[in-house]
Amino acid sequence: MHRIHILIAMDSHTLAQGARAVKDALLKDLSLAGLSDEVKVVETGSLGIYKKGVVLVVFPDNIYYTGVTVENVAEIVSEHIVKGRIVEKLKYSKAPGTEVKVQEKAPRFGKQLRVVLRNAGIIDPESIEEYIAHNGYEALGVALTEKKPNDILEQVKASDLQGRGGAFFPTGVKWGFAAREKAEQKYIICNADEGEPGTFKDRLILEGDPHAIIEGMALAGYAVGASKGFIYIRGEYHMSIARINRSIEQARENGLLGEKIFDTDFSFDIEVREGAGAYICGEETALIESIEGKRGEPRDKPPFPPSEGLWGKPTIVNNVETLANIPQIILNGPEWLQKLGTEASPGTKVFTLVGNINNPGLIEVPMGITLREIIYDIGEGIPQGNGFLLAQLGGTTGGILTAEQLDLPLDTDNLRKIGAGLGSGALLVVDDTHNVVEVVKNFVEFFNHESCGKCTLCREGTGRLYELLDKLVSGQGVLKDVDLIERLAKTMMTGAFCGLGQAAPVPILGCLKYFRQEFEKMVNTEQKSVSAVV
Ligand code: SF4
Repeated sequence: MHRIHILIAMDSHTLAQGARAVKDALLKDLSLAGLSDEVKVVETGSLGIYKKGVVLVVFPDNIYYTGVTVENVAEIVSEHIVKGRIVEKLKYSKAPGTEVKVQEKAPRFGKQLRVVLRNAGIIDPESIEEYIAHNGYEALGVALTEKKPNDILEQVKASDLQGRGGAFFPTGVKWGFAAREKAEQKYIICNADEGEPGTFKDRLILEGDPHAIIEGMALAGYAVGASKGFIYIRGEYHMSIARINRSIEQARENGLLGEKIFDTDFSFDIEVREGAGAYICGEETALIESIEGKRGEPRDKPPFPPSEGLWGKPTIVNNVETLANIPQIILNGPEWLQKLGTEASPGTKVFTLVGNINNPGLIEVPMGITLREIIYDIGEGIPQGNGFLLAQLGGTTGGILTAEQLDLPLDTDNLRKIGAGLGSGALLVVDDTHNVVEVVKNFVEFFNHESCGKCTLCREGTGRLYELLDKLVSGQGVLKDVDLIERLAKTMMTGAFCGLGQAAPVPILGCLKYFRQEFEKMVNTEQKSVSAVV
């Protein structure tokens, strides 16, 4: 029995800051002090504290240390672990609380509520035993031994969980389409092909709690009658891939994947497929084409994947965050999720908070929180006291929010009314030192690069939009160019073949709506007067 547990965040960020060397130094110093049997050092996923170097937590004292280096380790061991004296200079003053309200059944972290991230930073993600000790696989056990597939489907429907991949389509309704199909083979795909610039939520969810995704996929398989799952993941997510592969092996060894799980007639197994990093492969039919070994391009719809997907079979494609919610819904009941968040959008949302923000990183908040709370409470404000210009919600395809919307409760209904959406998961904060036209040009450059080229409107449209914006930024634009940008963006929105081309104009039109004068200011003044005369 260990007297003390030291949790050390071992995610991609902290690894780059030297977390591995700090852990090795800890193990060495604890051994030299004869404390190896009393103190357990546990690797965890992200602890939710960023830009503060290597982070570790000493339990049961619940003391967070940030910016820890190899040189600090001896002091932590000799002072805190041996003598019980906190090393004040390294102590993180805004340490997260660990209280769990009965009705929430998830830990609070300031204004954050961690449902999807409840285990991240708490358990060793490479240990199935620790996941099981935190109620892991309990939902699957209950489902397989006490409930029928339709019960699980109805619970997910009743929860009103909306898919967290960007479209916010009701998950239970989507599952229902596949469940009613009569087919020998059906598939569950976890979409972990996270391509939005600034978005890394799925990577950190997978790094922090991989078994939750496996359990969510198995529950989805049981509900719709699928026996096979695929996790389609970006090839450069090395740590996520290693952890999910290891977790799949552990689940198989423990009889939680494979034949006759929990000695029932339900069999389910998962394979990992690595993507090559094309943004379009996050679109579900392009993703399916890629798994089939073809070029990743979107398919004509209908038919939609729940009726005809992978190799022509009924297929559910769900995002990582969506699947991570499923075991908790089965364990706590659909009403529980509805009580978190708002009526229009139950539950929580995981964002990567990036851009001009003092405390960037992965956050999870209840739906209905305001942008002001996210930026100024969780994000600790904008650096150097600069003003807020805009936020882009949901990645490069997301809507634009301005100071007018700082106090708008964020949920699907409120955002739809202003032509925005919650999107996939990035929340980009831009301060007032930036030129909005250059910001938009940056977005469009990304889309121009990532357009798959299948349809003319997007292939040519993103290129022409980029040229027009570049013309404005370089001082060569005329007033008519601003109108042309708007017309072209609207045309793409209605005519492009898939979601990428339809959504690419969203931030352009959002910025034009709120900052048109900034575009017009960029017009070459000589040409402005000429065009006015003409
Ligand atoms: Fe490809 Fe763009 Fe057309 Fe989608 S809209 S099919 S990404 S060219």
